[in-house]
Amino acid sequence: MRHELMGEGQGGRPGRAPRQPGQPDPRRGIPSTDAVLRAPAVAPHVTRLGHERALPVVREVQRRARAGDGDLDPAAVVATAAIQLAALDAGGGPRPVLNATGVVVHTNLGRAPLGEAARAALLDAAGYADVELDLATGARDRRGGEVLDALRGAVPEAQDALVVGNGAAALLLATTALAAGREVVVSRGEMVEIGDGFRLPDLVESGGARLREVGTTNRTHLRDYEDALDRPGADVGALLKVHPSNFRVEGFVSSVTVARLAGLARERDLPLVVDPGSGLLEPDGDLPDEPDARTTLRDGAGLVTASADKLLGGPQAGIVLGDADLVARLRRHPMARALRVDKLTLAALAATVCDRGSTPVTLARRARGPGLRERADRLAAALRGHDIEAEVVPHAGRVGGGGAPGVELPGWAVAVPEDLAQRLRLGRPAVLPRVHEGRCLLDPRCIPEEQDEVLLRAVVEAAADVPEQPRR
Ligand SMILES: *Cc1c(COP(=O)(O)O)cnc(C)c1O
Repeated sequence: MRHELMGEGQGGRPGRAPRQPGQPDPRRGIPSTDAVLRAPAVAPHVTRLGHERALPVVREVQRRARAGDGDLDPAAVVATAAIQLAALDAGGGPRPVLNATGVVVHTNLGRAPLGEAARAALLDAAGYADVELDLATGARDRRGGEVLDALRGAVPEAQDALVVGNGAAALLLATTALAAGREVVVSRGEMVEIGDGFRLPDLVESGGARLREVGTTNRTHLRDYEDALDRPGADVGALLKVHPSNFRVEGFVSSVTVARLAGLARERDLPLVVDPGSGLLEPDGDLPDEPDARTTLRDGAGLVTASADKLLGGPQAGIVLGDADLVARLRRHPMARALRVDKLTLAALAATVCDRGSTPVTLARRARGPGLRERADRLAAALRGHDIEAEVVPHAGRVGGGGAPGVELPGWAVAVPEDLAQRLRLGRPAVLPRVHEGRCLLDPRCIPEEQDEVLLRAVVEAAADVPEQPRR
């Protein structure tokens, strides 16, 4: 079994042993075109490249094996085709990775994996598409009308919506359009760094608004905001509230709710911008502490800004929802043109919003212990059948950079020897395990169940690459 798998995988350079007289002709062992195309090491590349591009590569590999000109062993046909297709497939772009970390929204893996509907929508939009055209009249139409309708349908509290490149762009556009050259009042406890050294205060100020920090790191009261507004010479363009989405402050803390800030904003006729970040459009029973767009708008926020590729589970984009006049001010600002998204993003986002109850992100964070246990048990048993050490251990998944810091998602992982980790990352498909306390952990939570077989083969191939111990 071990050898069969090595033959089909990426193990070693495919070579050809000299044939002894009297042995059967090994060319008879060349797999059929169909068998090669369907082999687990090949099939994903065929799906991505399409038959038209994959077929000539497979045929050429078969031809070399059939010609028997000494450079290709028939047993290595699948492996060779897989390597060549993978090279073609990578095309210098990002490579697909099986996420075995249990972290659902994994920033280093491109955050949310798109669901089937969004993937299909991407392909449909890849040619010409009615991005800014009303097909009924033939006249020019609002850009991305479908996605704006989908967002307003999902968030009836929003009078209008706007989509830009990411969450940071949404916040930048909102604070720039509403308060450039003036002050944005924000609690000191909300001056957060969002990752990779990027800080929200720097972002807001880069657009020309000045930040007026109020309160302290752990406590901010309504009168702190009032004092900032009542100061002589105050020139405030907007109030801002940011949800600290990637950490939690506990203990002697207090902050002002959206509803109370909204009351103040109304009283002073100022816009209130709220950045809850995570992109939940409506409340989610599994994440009671996570703010959502509907509740935030109902509490009186003028604008809500959010990322589309966190808990919403869509493509990278930033969403602005809220008051029609405020959204119009953003839409008219010159910066809006620089921050707009392409048709692929609009297509994937519209499909995601319509499908938001069953995105891969939603399914992965709702995956329950017993189901995960069963999959881990099956994987571990299959690995032991290949002489690979494997043990099922409890493992908590996480929502990840997408939000809900501190929330644990109880589940299970298969622990395999640590020296497999790098081989797994370099395999095809690449597998990202979690390395923890000297073990390499494989958590099935973020892997679609129908890919369990692909994961198994990847681990078996990684183990086959480990230099063989003397057998006896
Ligand atoms: C993630 C996040 C952002 C940045 O969004 P991007 O889509 O990464 O640009 C801004 N604010 C909050 C609160 C966030 O959680």
